[in-house]
Amino acid sequence: MPGKGVRRPSKRRRSPLKVVNQIPKRRRQEIEDSGQEETSTPEKWSRQSGQGKHKIERRSVKPGEVRTVPFNLIDSEIGESWPIPITVVHGVRPGPVVTLLGAIHGNELVGPQALTFLQSSQILGDQRAIDVNTMSGTLRIVPIVNLPGYRTRTRYTPDGRDLNRYFPGKSGGNTTQRIARRIWNKIIKSSDYIIDLHSAASGRTNLPHIRANLAHPKSSMLARSFGTEVLLDGLGPRGSLRRVSNEYEIGCVTFEGGGANSIDSDAVQIATYGILNVLRSLRMIPGYPSSPRFRLLASGSVWIRSDHGGLLDVLAPVGSLIESDEVVATVTDPEHARQSVEIRAPSRGLLIGMATHPFVTAGTPIGHLLPLKKGLSTIKSRLDEDDVLMLSGILEDPIWREEETEDIDVQTVDVKSPDGWASVDDSMLEEEDD
Ligand SMILES: [Zn+2]
Repeated sequence: MPGKGVRRPSKRRRSPLKVVNQIPKRRRQEIEDSGQEETSTPEKWSRQSGQGKHKIERRSVKPGEVRTVPFNLIDSEIGESWPIPITVVHGVRPGPVVTLLGAIHGNELVGPQALTFLQSSQILGDQRAIDVNTMSGTLRIVPIVNLPGYRTRTRYTPDGRDLNRYFPGKSGGNTTQRIARRIWNKIIKSSDYIIDLHSAASGRTNLPHIRANLAHPKSSMLARSFGTEVLLDGLGPRGSLRRVSNEYEIGCVTFEGGGANSIDSDAVQIATYGILNVLRSLRMIPGYPSSPRFRLLASGSVWIRSDHGGLLDVLAPVGSLIESDEVVATVTDPEHARQSVEIRAPSRGLLIGMATHPFVTAGTPIGHLLPLKKGLSTIKSRLDEDDVLMLSGILEDPIWREEETEDIDVQTVDVKSPDGWASVDDSMLEEEDD
């Protein structure tokens, strides 16, 4: 029975999903070949095998139980151990273990927000989208991985390093390597699938999209089922969670959306619904995953850089379809107030990242462009009047904002309109737009 919070598309898709493929032919072949590999359901996930307890950090979670357990980022007898909360949703039936991670970079807040909404009573609970009493498999939700970074509003771990470059970590290494090792040993290794939520670095914003190695079957499945229009193919940086997870045959994708130190509510919504789409695709929860209107697969991207310093005026928002040589921003300098320079796009493409901080110096990357060669008509059919891509994931209202409607009884008193007041008749009321 679908619960109140479970949303299903009213009708199934009639036309097949269009794919706008910008990936070079050779790589495309690799991706296609990897899709041939068998992806049958392991025996341990069959309904016949019973569901045991889920063990994490010397605690066990019973089937049908939702439990939040503290996890120390570092093992230490005295001093800081940085305990982070992990919520385990352990379904009554066997199935995959899916781990959701936010704020590996401490100042990227879209992930923590999305993973908090995912645990709201509108989504997690009896008869809701995630109902532990009917769920298969196990969900582990870690809204804030880099808690010290989150508290000090920085991307980095306390020793100034980038945690997402140090996986699988090293137990006798530096602070970041030790943190990475503990996360790797206790959380990552025991996962079948990982969704790692990120935002653009400080001063920029990203169009919500998925980054994954599309030639890795389990990651490709996650990427496609998430439901975003844009999929960026690649291995990921050395030491990044998704690259190393793939080397160990764990499915892992990175979601990118919004920017650091801010909340982009569209990105939060797309992340939250994307996770539900994945859980539906994995048959952990009931319902059909929703698909985007088209899928744009790309492997290469280019940075548009400013050649001048000054204050930036952005003309093309993130998600814009840009023509070659189009002006995307201008730079002015208060010290040379009569001069202004234009920043032009090197090629036609979709703007997937854009500067939000106005201060630029020569060489500052201000835009991130996916060059487009094919499938323009498909993309153009989904642009709004400002040539900005309309993302499928934000067409519905976010369900965590729906409140129980309270009826307020207004006493109807039969009074005559005072003189001079025109009584409002129905013809004067305009209907509000949707
Ligand atoms: Zn990040």
